[in-house]
Amino acid sequence: MKVTPIGIWGGYPNRNEATSSFLIEEDGFRCLIDCGSGVLGAVQNYTALNELDALIVTHYHADHIADIGVLQHAAMVGMQLKEWETPFPIYAHDRDEEEFKKLSYKGVTEGHAIRVEEKLQIGPWEVSFCETVHPVYCLALRFESNGKAAVFTADSAWRDELVGFAEGADLLVSESNLYEKYLGIISGHMSGSQAGKLAEEAGVKQLVLTHLPQYGELGEILQAAKGQFAGPTEFAEIGKIYSI
Ligand SMILES: [Zn+2]
Repeated sequence: MKVTPIGIWGGYPNRNEATSSFLIEEDGFRCLIDCGSGVLGAVQNYTALNELDALIVTHYHADHIADIGVLQHAAMVGMQLKEWETPFPIYAHDRDEEEFKKLSYKGVTEGHAIRVEEKLQIGPWEVSFCETVHPVYCLALRFESNGKAAVFTADSAWRDELVGFAEGADLLVSESNLYEKYLGIISGHMSGSQAGKLAEEAGVKQLVLTHLPQYGELGEILQAAKGQFAGPTEFAEIGKIYSI
């Protein structure tokens, strides 16, 4: 499978960029992970919109859902031109009924409920879920196929259960929104050292950091992660293809 970072920022996008989002692809099936601010424009650097097959949303915060409305407009135009197969599936949890309802729009997009205890077959992958620690209910994602696994923490503070969930993954995409000095001050996110600790304890093969802050010296976050994890570690590079 191939994973391409579309955006890397937490909370809001940096100039001309997008919030944390990834395109995952295998056997021609293309799934977008989260659709926050700037994502709909940025993803078109890598795929035509009507070649997307699904969207998975980890939680209902603006930096993960802001562009869903315009995705729905694009799907509607595509449907009217008979150039987009609809309804387009959007997978997300339904703990927030009001937000979940918005995923289904005029027959062009359709919400599919994720339940944390149920694995889903989405395209070529078996996808499993793990609740994270965040101010709103949020799910980490694990994609598996052909003996390979890619894990996305979504937004989360440290949680022991994430270690088992990420165990042995070929690629761990971890949020690392915090500088070490903000641990215990800003809640709901991990620091670089915690992302590194997660990678180390889970025994993953590669760590990629995302959901980055727009302030401070980002290099400190990378160094903190590398201090805990001996394997390859880098910031998610927009447009780079991570093949596993
Ligand atoms: Zn976020």
